[in-house]
Amino acid sequence: MKILFAASECYPFAKTGGLGDVVGALPKELIKCGAEVRVILPKYGDIPEAFVKDMKHITDFYFFVSWRNQYCGIEELQYEGVTYYFIYNEYYFKRSGYYGYYDDGEKFVYFSKAIVECIKAIGFKPDIIHCHDWHTALIPFFVKKIFSDDFYKDIRTVLTIHNLKYQGVFPKDVLGDLLGIGESYFNTEDFEFYGAVNFLKTGIIYSDSVTTVSPTYAQEIQYEYFGEKLDGLLRKNNFKLKGILNGIDYELYNPEKDNHLKQRYKDSYAVKLKNKLEFQKMFSLPQNKDIPMISIVSRLTEQKGIDLIQAVIHEILVMDIQLAVLGSGEYKYEQLFKDLVWQYPDKIRVFIKFDELLSRRIYAASDMMLMPSRYEPCGLTQMIAMKYGAVPIVRKTGGLNDTVTSYEEDTSRGTGFVFNNYNAHEFLFTVQRAVRLYYDNKEEWDKLFNNAIAEDLSWKKSASAYFQNYNDIKYHETGRN
Ligand code: ADP
Repeated sequence: MKILFAASECYPFAKTGGLGDVVGALPKELIKCGAEVRVILPKYGDIPEAFVKDMKHITDFYFFVSWRNQYCGIEELQYEGVTYYFIYNEYYFKRSGYYGYYDDGEKFVYFSKAIVECIKAIGFKPDIIHCHDWHTALIPFFVKKIFSDDFYKDIRTVLTIHNLKYQGVFPKDVLGDLLGIGESYFNTEDFEFYGAVNFLKTGIIYSDSVTTVSPTYAQEIQYEYFGEKLDGLLRKNNFKLKGILNGIDYELYNPEKDNHLKQRYKDSYAVKLKNKLEFQKMFSLPQNKDIPMISIVSRLTEQKGIDLIQAVIHEILVMDIQLAVLGSGEYKYEQLFKDLVWQYPDKIRVFIKFDELLSRRIYAASDMMLMPSRYEPCGLTQMIAMKYGAVPIVRKTGGLNDTVTSYEEDTSRGTGFVFNNYNAHEFLFTVQRAVRLYYDNKEEWDKLFNNAIAEDLSWKKSASAYFQNYNDIKYHETGRN
């Protein structure tokens, strides 16, 4: 089974969130299942030089992005047992950051088409191209409708939706201007979406299988509330829709092996505590191992429930706790947290940035982690938190529902605290309940800590579910014209 992962992010080369983690980790697990997996990415200007210097140029050619004749170089890198290809075009990719440019649509049409073009040149004909999010969602369309050569006949495609909110919606002109196809495709069965063109929609229609990153989210997105205007299409295509839960990479996120920590630990709370003391010292918080350290490591956006946190933040901060916040995103939320540092100088530290190393130190220093998301396709943060022994406090939605079980006093079962409704006070009461348990019942807290840290969140089960899915579609009719 030969699989080509096509994505806009992959840790450690380029990551802004969970997508990068998944594309970094899943190929390695699939290789363990017996698949031959390679990964193809843009060669962004921001990829660290340590990787760039080892890349080998293997071929180059020109192809048309509608009327533009564009250069495409292919570079190869062997890294930790996986073959990576990088599409090299400085005009599109030699910039800082990955998204948010005026020509994102053009850039990712170029990238997607380059992938389909290049598989002939690199000598790796995949059975499956596994696409991720809107950036590569046009590949199934290219394979089925545009590349009529027999070479592409047997190739199947999987599209994984990591977050349905981001769909790649562009004006109708892109059909001619970027894809070089006629207006006949501007209909609801191909591209049309409320008067515009939607790449993710087209991907859902043309791929052989659609997956999303947790079973609960796969159900939720078929309802209007979560469906981001694609719920009808997803219901219609639910015969090929599956939810497969993400895991986390235990080589990467493992307090026992994490060299960035002051004190590595396996499952001992007493040893973990040294990280809290170190964090307090480093950032001039009162040093006290008995104060619960609560943390937030997140994009600061509404999806992550930051407005719920905002509504009750003062009630949280009047408790005897410390709060560490690492994140960036909407200006109003960045300001909110920055202002709180002035109001509660002995209780809160705020870092407005993306910092992988600091995130691990925060996970290791924390007793609890807040994630009251409005919706959550899967969420890796709560899983990493559990692995580092920080008890997650989450809302019952999407992958949070599939990964965190609510603590029950009667049985001492559960791996975190879960609340149901998107309601600030329900969230607050849950945080208060957690803090109370931490102070009043050390024995029970220890059990909860042990439950969280012992939870199996590895990729193993999920990788075999993906493998099974590839097998299921490999011999399907492709519906190719
Ligand atoms: P999403 O992909 O929606 O942002 P996930 O929970 O699936 O959320 O994944 C978030 C990933 O990004 C986790 O690995 C988390 O540790 C990391 N992360 C989020 N914000 C930051 C930040 N400011 N600095 C470092 N890592 C971060």
